[in-house]
Amino acid sequence: MSDTLGVRPQPASEIDEWDYEADVVIAGYGIAGVTAAIEASEAGADVLVLERTGGWGGAAALSGGFIYLGGGTPLQKALGFEDTPENMEKFMRAALGPGVDEAKVHDYCQGSVEHFNWLVAQGVPFKEEFWGEPGWEPPHDEGLMYSGGENAAPFNEIATPAPRGHLPQMENKRTGEKGGGYMLMKPLSDVAEKLGVRAEYDVRIQRLIVDGDRVVGVVAKRYGKLLTVRARRGVVLATGSFAYEQQMIEGYAPRLIGRPAAAIEEHDGIGIRVAQALGAQLAHMDATEVAFMGDPQMMARGIMVNGRGQRYIAEDTYPGRIGQATLIQQENQAYLVIDEAALEEALGTETATRFFRQPPTWAAETVEELETEMGLPAGALQSTVEVYNRHAEAGTDPLLKKKPEWVKPIGTPVAGFDMRNYTAGFTLGGLRTDLDSRVVHVSGEPIPGLYAAGRCTSGVCAGGYASGTSLGDGSFYGRRAGRAAAHDGPESN
Ligand SMILES: Cc1cc2nc3c(=O)[nH]c(=O)nc-3n(C[C@H](O)[C@H](O)[C@H](O)COP(=O)(O)OP(=O)(O)OC[C@H]3O[C@@H](n4cnc5c(N)ncnc54)[C@H](O)[C@@H]3O)c2cc1C
Repeated sequence: MSDTLGVRPQPASEIDEWDYEADVVIAGYGIAGVTAAIEASEAGADVLVLERTGGWGGAAALSGGFIYLGGGTPLQKALGFEDTPENMEKFMRAALGPGVDEAKVHDYCQGSVEHFNWLVAQGVPFKEEFWGEPGWEPPHDEGLMYSGGENAAPFNEIATPAPRGHLPQMENKRTGEKGGGYMLMKPLSDVAEKLGVRAEYDVRIQRLIVDGDRVVGVVAKRYGKLLTVRARRGVVLATGSFAYEQQMIEGYAPRLIGRPAAAIEEHDGIGIRVAQALGAQLAHMDATEVAFMGDPQMMARGIMVNGRGQRYIAEDTYPGRIGQATLIQQENQAYLVIDEAALEEALGTETATRFFRQPPTWAAETVEELETEMGLPAGALQSTVEVYNRHAEAGTDPLLKKKPEWVKPIGTPVAGFDMRNYTAGFTLGGLRTDLDSRVVHVSGEPIPGLYAAGRCTSGVCAGGYASGTSLGDGSFYGRRAGRAAAHDGPESN
């Protein structure tokens, strides 16, 4: 952490001259920033966005583009899926905890259909096509997919399964370079520009400016020069996660040491630190999204075993859940065991990325031989496969409840994939905010003039994760932040 003194708030009384002024000042031009900018501007505020890089986008523009929405969106309905806000809430409470912010999850589910319609009204395109195969993302431009294990154990018995991963349509996608997230950010930033939102690039916010206990601006730096920026109504922090801040990772989320992913280097926790320096509350700082470098088509057809050769998760679930279970509960030790026929079948399916399709680490004529080659204790893997196969003969998996369509006895020859330390991810914890995206002080009161959204806040995920919840809560609460900030302050209408 570079400069702790440097994040302390500066009193407005020390500022002689303001370099920039606006009603609402937003730090960060990713998903939370752009949605805040649109709403604040629509509410009549003069809006200025300060962005550290040379353009809008952030991690959001590089992302796969999943937005977690449901409760009966027009896209869900058009594709024949029934969902209600209550059903969505049941799933989110079960899957995104422990310790979810219940008020936030309820609010998010109740507002989800409106939020989808709003995105469409801003020009975000969604193709009416469903992708139903296991995968991290659809291989083409399909608009809807299961993205959190809704249709797998244990959640398919808790809530009625409904796909909620909504994807902006993007042709010729290349994951991590040209993903659906671009087609979320492009229309939104066009709308912001049309509304007259001003943006200053290569400007890095460093600390907040306060008048008494009210936030009235930020100090930022451009090319080594300090800038003072006055916010007449409010400041919105939208600077992303702390995935790339080594000291914060070591202190709060050490499982991610050395393994940041699905984030950008600009995610250095600055939004969290400047607010902490004012007494802001934090929440769920240990929560992490976990990517797992396994091919879901292969995993669903095989069995995942831990370092003791035991199964630990229904293999047909959301791969991010497999990642979390592996990293958090299995000390990052995982192997995939799959027979030759199932492997060939998996390799014949479409995938969004061939990256996960590496050759097996081991191949053997029998499970006993594979077990020896993998260095597992004699009998450990054999007994796992014996129990799995015994039930699989009848098409069931009473142990972990993988769905019958994926349950088949494991035959020979058989392959093993070494998937130890195959995880990476980003942080989900951050500033505690209320339903109007006001940053909450340790006293429980909101900090006047200070708002936050996106991954510098703790959103709808407290521990678990579903793809789309980051762009989802970032855009949902980004909008709230913009609207609330526009109506805040002594100089608001
Ligand atoms: C390859 C990839 C795939 C992903 N797929 C998905 C997905 O499908 N669905 C999903 O929900 N999430 C996905 N994510 C994660 C998601 O993109 C982020 O969590 C989300 O964009 C966070 O929103 P945000 O507004 O907080 O941050 P961002 O969108 O990253 O925006 C933050 C902005 O703040 C700027 N900034 C940082 N520091 C400062 C500073 N000091 N001053 C001014 N500006 C600053 C940054 O440069 C950036 O532009 C993916 C991410 C990646 C990289």
